[in-house]
Formats: sequence, structure tokens, C-alpha cells
Amino acid sequence: MQSDLIISQQAKLLPIADVAERAGILADELIPQGEAKAKVKFSLLQRLDNAPRGKLVVVTAITPTPLGEGKTVTTIGLSQGLKAIGQQVMACIRQPSMGPVFGVKGGAAGGGYSQVAPMEELNLHLTGDIHAVSAAHNLAAAAIDARVYHEQRHGEKFEAKTGLPNLNIDPERVVWDRVVDMNDRTLRRVTIGLNAPGSTANGLERESGFDITAASELMAILALANDLADLRARLGKVVLAYSHDGKPVTAEDIQVAGAMAAILRDAAQPTLMQTLEGVPTLVHAGPFANIAHGNSSIIADRMALRLADVVVTEGGFGSDMGFEKACNIKARAAGKGPDAAVVVATLRGLKANSGQYDLRPGQALPQAIFEPDAAALEAGFANLKWHIENVQRYGVPAVVALNRFPQDTDEELAWLKGQVEALGARVAISEAFAKGGAGATELAHQVMDALAQPADFQFLYEAEQSIEAKLLTMAEAGYGGNGIELSDKARADIARLEALGFGHLPVCMAKTPLSISHDPALKGAPSDFVVPVRGLRLCAGAGFIYVLTGNVMTMPGLPERPGYLNIDIDANGNITGLD
Ligand code: ADP
Ligand code: MG
Repeated sequence: MQSDLIISQQAKLLPIADVAERAGILADELIPQGEAKAKVKFSLLQRLDNAPRGKLVVVTAITPTPLGEGKTVTTIGLSQGLKAIGQQVMACIRQPSMGPVFGVKGGAAGGGYSQVAPMEELNLHLTGDIHAVSAAHNLAAAAIDARVYHEQRHGEKFEAKTGLPNLNIDPERVVWDRVVDMNDRTLRRVTIGLNAPGSTANGLERESGFDITAASELMAILALANDLADLRARLGKVVLAYSHDGKPVTAEDIQVAGAMAAILRDAAQPTLMQTLEGVPTLVHAGPFANIAHGNSSIIADRMALRLADVVVTEGGFGSDMGFEKACNIKARAAGKGPDAAVVVATLRGLKANSGQYDLRPGQALPQAIFEPDAAALEAGFANLKWHIENVQRYGVPAVVALNRFPQDTDEELAWLKGQVEALGARVAISEAFAKGGAGATELAHQVMDALAQPADFQFLYEAEQSIEAKLLTMAEAGYGGNGIELSDKARADIARLEALGFGHLPVCMAKTPLSISHDPALKGAPSDFVVPVRGLRLCAGAGFIYVLTGNVMTMPGLPERPGYLNIDIDANGNITGLD
């Protein structure tokens, strides 16, 4: 089989205006960005506000290996399979971050004959939305640091001098770090405002840090806003610092939220692309599912659900991660839960969950998981069973997609399919990677069958519960653990957030994706663990409380042999090695 990049470059793509027309998007609702992509205007939502709503399918997975088990491949492949059986379908996916593109994981356009194209454009910049998020985020960082500097410099005279209120900001309590869309471990902790002796010209010296842009609260806001007005209002609520008397200082308080919104105006519009088989695909926002909420945007879903009968989207990592957040965070903000879920499983992924291997992060995967091994597969099956039951816990009908890799044997796939059927769950082998939509028609039929069943969607917890009760529910019902262990800092954070009146927000768990638990070494379906909670952070604009468990990094690093080693261009500007 050809490489992903060659397949993508050789595909005959439709002009983007034709893709739009077939999707039901009017010419004046489109802002073309070259030949193969276009922004979709909000006027579409106004025109179609009362149109019947389609069904939402969320693709999730077993606990993955660091390579990924094929959710994006299955999201795109299933949408092509649904088109092949005559459904009016759209896909909604996240915009890939360049951190993983140049790091471990590579691109995120799908693969084989189930890709969004052109994959070079999707994987590198696209229409610049992620850069816009970085710029808006860093404007807020510059603004709050400058405000602290000027308030300190002028003291009592600040108000008279500027006509702005003295917010009495505590320089020690600026809580807004900076972001960049790159894996760069050296930026995790930095000192800013270094001055020559006796000078304060470079601002106030303090320790700070960088997160990857996918972890920015503004990325979450872009993904969770229902429309432009909601986006603008949420930007105003972002907490940048606290005053000396403990009051939150927001982006609205320092009057920077309007400028942030102006930077994000174009990024607020989803980008229309197409799959290799012409399924219209909206690409929008890119929060990771381990350090953020891991789902593409509500705005894109709202548009697609008004245009298509079936909309296929993806939540990052396993169902304990992106799918949990699709239900407890995204669905709450959107007022719409999933109508069905697809749980992607692979032979290699289940073998990696057998508990037979030392799979600590950063370590090379053992060759054995890519080879037949009935015992390892059987041992790892517990992980798939857990994820099927987890999806059903939310009242969402499940379909298992067995994503077939070239090395997979018929025997092992047939055994696995039989095991899933014995649980009473819907299951199909997907050959979407090797065959495109034609390899996913059985899966498409199973999904239509699941959609015919009325969904009975429910949240795992009520937002009004106390923060501690929500965390306990997440640990026990959400992950199957034995409760939580709060650090002193976590206890203090909870008390402070509840006193400030933010206890009613849902929780966004930052957790390893490599285990259902907080500990990447615990494979399969672990049950005897206590989830450590290290600290909590208010994301008032995104509308959740961010919870750090275990040792989660909000800025990844590059590995010894990173993805960028192979990437280059030729004299005509063709990109090579991006897969
Ligand atoms: P996820 O979205 O779950 O992280 P992806 O769909 O991005 O996973 O797939 C992860 C990687 O595995 C990609 O490089 C993809 O091309 C590759 N891949 C996925 N499914 C298959 C398959 N069936 N055969 C070969 N390669 C595959
Ligand atoms: Mg993916």
C-alpha cells in the first residue's frame, strides 16, 4: 500500500465550493481559503436555526498505545461508509496540533484510504486558527503582566494617571502562563522579567511557564462556545490573576477580552475540508484529551447537525478521556449528548493492555504486540469490555469497531469479534484504512442500527454537586477506582473555588491516557487504585474546573527520534515525509 501522504496527494479532490454545495452550504456562507478549504460563516446557523437536527456519533477507543488505535481513521472511514450506504453524512474533527506532528504521533488526518485531504494542509497550520489562539492567549498574558507593572509603578496615582481602576493585583498571583504550539520541554518553567541590577524596565521578575496551545483555556473556549456572542462572553470571564484581597481579576476587568475576541474572530468559524471520498468535513479547535477536554467544537457540530442526518466526530484517547469529557463537559455546554458511540479496538492495543509488558511512557513498544498472541489478546480483552460498559454507563448505545491492521490475522479478529458478540454488543471489523468507505459498510450498518435505538443520555454527575463529590464520582464511577486522595493544595483549592462561587462547574480531569487509572503502568481494567488529586484550577471562561491528577505534563517534550526527522520539501514545494 502507498504511504498516507502519497495517497492524499494522488487523490482527486472536488473544488471546495462543490463540497459545500453538496453539503447544503450556500455560496455566500463560504469564505474560500485556496482550493481545498473554506471557512463557514455563522449566517448558516441563522438560516438553518429551525432545521431538524441530525444524530451525533462519537468515536472513542480502548486505552490506546502512544501510536493511537485509529479513532480518526475510523471517524473518517465510518463517514465514508455511511455515505456509501446512502446516508447524508458529515464528519467533524479537531485541527491537529503541530506539537505531536513533529513529536511522537505524527499527523492526525486519519490514514490510508480514510483521510481528510490535503493532509499537509490539515497537519500544518491549516487556516491558522491555532496560531490565533496562541496570539489571543499571549495578548492576555502580556496585558496582565503590563497591568501589574504599571499598577506597581504608579501605586496610588495609577487611577489618576490612566483613568483605569487600580485593581490592586497581587504580582505573586498572576495565574495566566503563556502558550506555544510546539513540544518544548525547556519552556515548562521559565523566569520572566529579568532586569539589570537596580532596573525594573523589563517588568517584574517572576517564575512562569508555557503550556502547549492545545491546553490553553482559550482553545477550550473556542471548542465550547455555541456562537460568537458566547465566545466573546466566555473570553471576558477568563481569570488572569487575583487581587491582594483574593478577588479574581478577569480579562473583562482589564478590558482585554474584546481585543482577544477580535483576534479570534476568523478562528471562530470552522474550516470545511473533504475526505478522500468527498464527505464534507468540518475541522475546528484542537484541545488534547489528557490535558484539556479533547473534543472538536460545538459550533462545528451545530452546523453539521443542521446540514446532515448523521454527524461523526471523535473524542481523544480512550472512553475514560475524550468520551467522558464529550459527555460531562461538551454535551452540557451544547445541550446535546451523543446518540451513539463507536469504540475502536485493535489487536495491538488489547495486547498492550494485557499487563504482560512494561509500557512506561517514552519506552519503545515491544514487538510482540504486533504479532499473534492469543493469551495476550485474551488478557487484554478486559480493557475493551470496560470501555463498552463505560459508554453504556452514559446511556449511549455502543458499536465496537475492530480496526484491522495489515499484520492482523483472520483468526484473532474472528475470536475477538465473537467475544464482543457474546457480551451482546454490536461489532464490525473495519477495513477503512485499506479500503476506504467500502471497508466500513458493515460498521456503517451497525451504527445505523444503534441510532435506531432511542438514546437515553445521562451525565455521570450533576454539576451542582460539591467539587469533592464530583471528583469521587469521577474516580469511582468514571474510572472504576477506590476514591480519591486530596493533597493539601487540592483541599485549599477546593475551599477557595467553592468560596468564590465556582463549585457548580463540571470538572475537567488532566490524566494519563495510557491507563484507565491515573497510573500509566496499570493496564487492562484496573480497580484497586486511589486517584491522587494534586491541584485544581479555575477555567471560568471554559466553564470547568481543571483538575491535575498524577504527573501530567501540560507541555509535552520531543522524543529522541522525533517525527520532524523525515519531513522536508522539494524544489516545487511538495512536502515529503509527513506520515
Ligand atoms: P487516533 O485518532 O485514535 O489517535 P489515528 O486514526 O490517528 O488514531 O491512527 C493512529 C495511527 O495509526 C495513524 O498513523 C494511522 O494512519 C495509523 N493507522 C490507524 N489505523 C490503521 C490501520 N488499520 N492500518 C494501518 N495503519 C493504521
Ligand atoms: Mg485522532
